[in-house]
Amino acid sequence: MDEVTLLNQFQNIRQASINGNRAPHKPLLLLYVLSRLWVEQNHRLFSFEEIDPKLTELLDRFYISKKKQNTTDPFTRLLADRIGWELKGIEDFERQYASKLSERKLLDRGVAGGFDQETVTVLLDQPNLILQIAHILLVKNFPESYFSAICRELGFPDPLKDFITFDFVNPSLEPNDATPTSKRDPNFRENVLNAYRRKCAFCGSSIRLRDTLVDLEAAHIRWHCYDGPDTIPNGLALCSSHHKLFDWGAIGLERDSDSYRILLAFTLNSSGPIESWLEQIRGSNILLPLEQQHWPDPTFVEWHQNQVFEKQR
Ligand SMILES: [Zn+2]
Repeated sequence: MDEVTLLNQFQNIRQASINGNRAPHKPLLLLYVLSRLWVEQNHRLFSFEEIDPKLTELLDRFYISKKKQNTTDPFTRLLADRIGWELKGIEDFERQYASKLSERKLLDRGVAGGFDQETVTVLLDQPNLILQIAHILLVKNFPESYFSAICRELGFPDPLKDFITFDFVNPSLEPNDATPTSKRDPNFRENVLNAYRRKCAFCGSSIRLRDTLVDLEAAHIRWHCYDGPDTIPNGLALCSSHHKLFDWGAIGLERDSDSYRILLAFTLNSSGPIESWLEQIRGSNILLPLEQQHWPDPTFVEWHQNQVFEKQR
C-alpha cells in the first residue's frame, strides 16, 4: 500500500450519522488512535477498556454531552471502513456481526482494536502521514474553531496545518485549502460581512484598526463540513469570540416571530468581566441584514439548534 492510497481511504470514510444526527464517534476514535501512534511511535492495539473512557471523554468535550455516549459502535464498525482496522479477541464468524457485540462482551473478552501492521508500517515510515490523516478527519467533521482544542487535547502539534509537509501528490490536499472535501466560495466572507453591515450579528461590535476591519468573521450556521452552503442565508457575521461560541454550541438561536433570539447553553460557565459580556446578549434578537432574502434560513438555524446547540435535554 502506498501513501496516496492510504490517504484516499481516509478521505473516503463515509460521514456517519445516527438517526439523521451528526455522529463524530468514529473520527474522534480514529484521532485518538492516531494521536497515540504519533506520540508513542509503535504498533499496538487498544483494548476496549482503554477506548471506552477516552472516547466518552472526547465525545463529552467535542460533541454533545450525554448521559451515555455510544462507544461500542465506532470501535466495532470501523472494521467495515477499509482503513486497515482490526479487532483481536473475537471469533472469525463474529466479524460480520461485530457491531452486535455488547459492551459487556467487549470488556469481558478483552477485545482490542487498532490499525493492522501493514497500515502502521506505512504510517510510521512517513509519520507526517499521521498528521495529514488527522487533518482530513478534522476538516471532514468539525469547523476550524475546534481544531486547536482537539489537537492540544490529543497531543498533536498545534496548529496542525503548520506541521504538515505536502510531499505527496494528492491534489485533494493543498496546504492552503482548509476544506479539501469540497469547494469554497472565495466571496463568502465578504458577502456575509457586507450583508450584516460589517458588524457582529450578536453584539454589534465592529473593530477597526486604521480603517481595516479586524476580528469580524463569516460563520456558517450549518457547518460547511455538513453540507452547509457558502451563501448569505447560511452565514452570520460574528466577532471571533461569538463565532467560536456559536460553533461550539455555547450560543444558539431560536425563531422569534420576525427575528431570531439568542440563547445561551445551560452548560456555559464563565467568570470575570467576560460573564457580563456574555450575559448581555442573552434573550436579545440578532442584528439582521437589511434585505430579507439575506436573513438566516430557518432550516439552517434548525440544523444548528438540533445538531450543535447545547440545549437542555
Ligand atoms: Zn460579537
